[in-house]
Amino acid sequence: MDMNSDERVVASDASLIRSPTCPACDAAERRPYYRHETWELFSCEVCRLIYLDPMPGPATLATIYHDAYNGAQTGYFTKTSSKLRRSSKRLRIIRRFSKTSGGNFLDVGCNGGFMVEAARRVGYTAWGIDPDLVSLEYARAHFPDSRYFHGVIDEFDPRDSVGAAVRFDMAYCSEVIEHVPQPQAFLRDINRLLKPGGVLYLTTPDISHWRRPRRLENWDGFCPPSHLLYFSPENLIALARRSGFELLSRRPAWKPGVKLVLQRPQR
Ligand SMILES: [Zn+2]
Repeated sequence: MDMNSDERVVASDASLIRSPTCPACDAAERRPYYRHETWELFSCEVCRLIYLDPMPGPATLATIYHDAYNGAQTGYFTKTSSKLRRSSKRLRIIRRFSKTSGGNFLDVGCNGGFMVEAARRVGYTAWGIDPDLVSLEYARAHFPDSRYFHGVIDEFDPRDSVGAAVRFDMAYCSEVIEHVPQPQAFLRDINRLLKPGGVLYLTTPDISHWRRPRRLENWDGFCPPSHLLYFSPENLIALARRSGFELLSRRPAWKPGVKLVLQRPQR
């Protein structure tokens, strides 16, 4: 990505978002953690979340995501069969925790639709949502038997054919929450969309992981301002609990990532 062009956008973006308190636990106590180009990162003194302040506004984010996906037709999505295989493998893991053998499946940040398609193939009614139109167009063109929504989760109000609200048995959200300025509201929205007992598989990079390169710039999980938040397993679990989830399992991660299986309580 061309960081110089991003900086120009930032300079003209009046909608930089101040985040003076921790987006995960609301604590105001923090210390400066790192500075990357024009971006400042802070460490929450209470939960140790690392977060940007200020965060980029909508105009900057739109540019970032356009840049990230403008290679979509030329290579980003070319390994379709291997992506589908990987999605199916991960889906098998999630299904061990979900007591259902079908029902409604939601991928939050569904990208090219690979996980949506993997879920549909094993019998789920599958939905995907994503704010990126290029990705969604790819998903709609290649996997047309599922349903897609262009936008973000707080605008998502899925309805069935008779107009009743759709609630999900299983949700999947991989490498998305680090892009979200208000992760509490984000997880509460996913929680609200699940049926009682519904399961969420959540992944994000892990800044505290023992295999994370010592120099932050050498770690592919470190990319401000695209990644606004840098979690560790402990603060992600605490955030999930605060947002209405119970922890079912923390999966082993051999790369610097955290993978959680969460559940909306039965009652
Ligand atoms: Zn915090």
